[in-house]
Amino acid sequence: MRVVILGLIGAGKGTQALRVASGRGIVHISTGDMFRAQAARGTELGLRARAHMERGELVPDEVTIGMLLDRISEPDAEAGFILDGFPRTAAQAEALERALAGRGLGVDVVPRIEVPQEVLLARIAKRAQLEGRSDDRPEVVAERLRAQRAGLEDVARFYEARRVLVDVDGVGSVDEVADRLAGALERVSPRMETA
Ligand code: AMP
Repeated sequence: MRVVILGLIGAGKGTQALRVASGRGIVHISTGDMFRAQAARGTELGLRARAHMERGELVPDEVTIGMLLDRISEPDAEAGFILDGFPRTAAQAEALERALAGRGLGVDVVPRIEVPQEVLLARIAKRAQLEGRSDDRPEVVAERLRAQRAGLEDVARFYEARRVLVDVDGVGSVDEVADRLAGALERVSPRMETA
């Protein structure tokens, strides 16, 4: 099963994506985690990404798309994957679609975790305290939210047109949201399940 999980920062999509991955035996692929790992190793790609991440901007598509398409071509992604943080632009969504179509595949389901803005801000503030992530600083958060909203709408529209977008209420405990998400994934047609 190939899943794209959508949601703004603080929507809980990373936590939920990890659960789906371990529950279904598919790989969790987070472009944010990949960039942070590359930055920590000091690679050229990582240093380039970090400059954008620290300003709350998206990393340019020409860097992001190549990295993601390489990752989903690795053997462990063959049985399926859940993408967390990709696509964030229509161009990324199109590139993913083209790459998968070339292998006779597609994205099966796109849950969008929906959380009101005030709940998001409260969660992000808490995470910033706990993890000390430099891109969770308040001034960076405002820019990330603004940038993410526009991209998220484009990407949601892209998948809505393909009838794979499913809205999931993201307010509640991690378990409650996980149950709703499981329900949304159940609705994927059996034909697609085997693809
Ligand atoms: P995340 O952990 O998903 O919130 O990502 C952290 C940061 O990595 C983002 O604010 C972007 O700067 C960068 N990033 C992650 N995924 C993407 C993507 N698909 N396209 C562009 N930039 C990304």
